[in-house]
Amino acid sequence: MPDIGQQTERSSVMADAINKLVSTPLRAAKWLRSRLVLSGDIDVSDRHVLIIGGNFGGLAAALALQNVCRVTVVDPRPDFEWTPHIHDILSGLKLKDHLSFDRARLFQRLGHEFIQTSVEVLDPIGRRVTLGNDRELRYDACIVACGGVQRPNVVPGGQQHTTGFRHADQAELIEHQLTALADKQKAVTVTIIGGGLSGVEAMGSLLRNKRFGGKLNLHIVDAQDLLPAFPDELTKDVRKQLKKKKVTFHTGPKCAVKRVSRSSVELLDGQVLQSDVTIWTAGIQRQGLISQLCDEKNLQLKAADDGIGLVVDNALNPVLDKPQYGYADAWRETLFFAGDCASIVDQKLDKQAYHALDMGEHAAENAIRYFKADKPNNFTNANKPVLIALGDLEHYFAWNGLIAAGSVFEAMKESVFQVYMARYSLVLELKDASLSTWRRSTRALTRQLLPGMLPSGFWQTVESLFPNPLVALPRAALRRFIFGQRIIHYANPFTESADQT
Ligand SMILES: Cc1cc2nc3c(=O)[nH]c(=O)nc-3n(C[C@H](O)[C@H](O)[C@H](O)COP(=O)(O)OP(=O)(O)OC[C@H]3O[C@@H](n4cnc5c(N)ncnc54)[C@H](O)[C@@H]3O)c2cc1C
Repeated sequence: MPDIGQQTERSSVMADAINKLVSTPLRAAKWLRSRLVLSGDIDVSDRHVLIIGGNFGGLAAALALQNVCRVTVVDPRPDFEWTPHIHDILSGLKLKDHLSFDRARLFQRLGHEFIQTSVEVLDPIGRRVTLGNDRELRYDACIVACGGVQRPNVVPGGQQHTTGFRHADQAELIEHQLTALADKQKAVTVTIIGGGLSGVEAMGSLLRNKRFGGKLNLHIVDAQDLLPAFPDELTKDVRKQLKKKKVTFHTGPKCAVKRVSRSSVELLDGQVLQSDVTIWTAGIQRQGLISQLCDEKNLQLKAADDGIGLVVDNALNPVLDKPQYGYADAWRETLFFAGDCASIVDQKLDKQAYHALDMGEHAAENAIRYFKADKPNNFTNANKPVLIALGDLEHYFAWNGLIAAGSVFEAMKESVFQVYMARYSLVLELKDASLSTWRRSTRALTRQLLPGMLPSGFWQTVESLFPNPLVALPRAALRRFIFGQRIIHYANPFTESADQT
């Protein structure tokens, strides 16, 4: 009997040899072109980069390619959205406009073309895509930053009776529904399905809202626990902060959702929760376009185990699932993946906006390097913290085994948002840029940061402001932002990883 292991090994060696045979002349031609034909700095302005998806990864790539080459960005949605702050729409601190930019204007100002539709088919070998409007587009290099899509709510009634929580317009819809209900009813019950980061942030923001927060009864449902991706101490602290609020937790396998109706949510253990508004915050899954590329009848790119993206190497080029015969895989060098849809082969990255930004920029740099026949650079991730908001109850900072809590992290989270949005608005005309930055920052200052610094209670406020405001305000700021910060968990990441080995 022939050994199957040996056969597979032999076939992969053969496939490698065939690929090398076909791709070597191509590489040699590219090298010659760069060394002989175009000596000096190579002009790549006639090259065409297609960017699929115009949010974090796509925008970062588009910014890096400004004035470098011809760029087309394709996205079915009209606005760039700062997703990490959509919970602030629920608290009433921000409006949709504060979190978004019109893509057509933004990309046009960068000198790029924006097409508002989706990419239906990507053919990397032919270097072309078919768009939702049936138009075909060719490219020299393509950056895919299409993110993930919210996992559909497949339980009976889920699609009809829950509102997703992935885009600003969904958050706006929930806020409007609750405001209307709170005007009519004495109490309003909300069920949040999904106790991950976005579910917890949504819960905190709902409680913070002055227009309906006091009238709310909240259920939070998750078949695991709250914030399962973080240490237990964080979960315990979140529960502690919510103890005095009208929040009921339903967590664990028996609390999986069985059915949703217009006014209730039924759990596996038989409990039926009355629910005026039901919010679906469960995680994300692979976009159709990514599934297509991983399909065994298609290119068989390697799907990532996280169920969201596909596997890329350190240069952000895709990895093949199996060796393939008969054609060179030089096309891989023209295709880059960035953000949530990319899982780097030996780096474990959370699905976070700042990774998407860094990867988008890196993919753009490598696309230029490809045009110049330079070796691509490897991506190294910047190890940045995760900031979690629990309304005005608490803010958390999670980084390298450390979890801390305190209001200084609210200021930190807000500053990241303000700085990035101000930077993006600089692309617009000066008048629009200053207006939007002014609106965003004054709103944060007057509704969020300053009120948080003032002592609670009207008389306390008057007393501290009027006798000596010059002392009272800095004192309040000190108390809020310097003292009162807590470390709630620390595990040395180095000893932890040593323990695991
Ligand atoms: C509620 C919530 C809270 C979050 N909080 C945080 C946080 O606090 N900190 C943090 O760092 N991250 C946070 N995240 C995660 C963060 O938003 C994502 O990691 C980030 O959006 C990923 O960026 P991306 O560019 O890869 O994908 P996305 O932002 O998802 O953008 C993908 C874009 O591709 C487009 N697209 C999809 N398919 C196609 C197609 N076929 N053709 C063309 N275009 C397509 C989509 O319309 C979309 O605009 C949060 C996410 C959510 C939902």
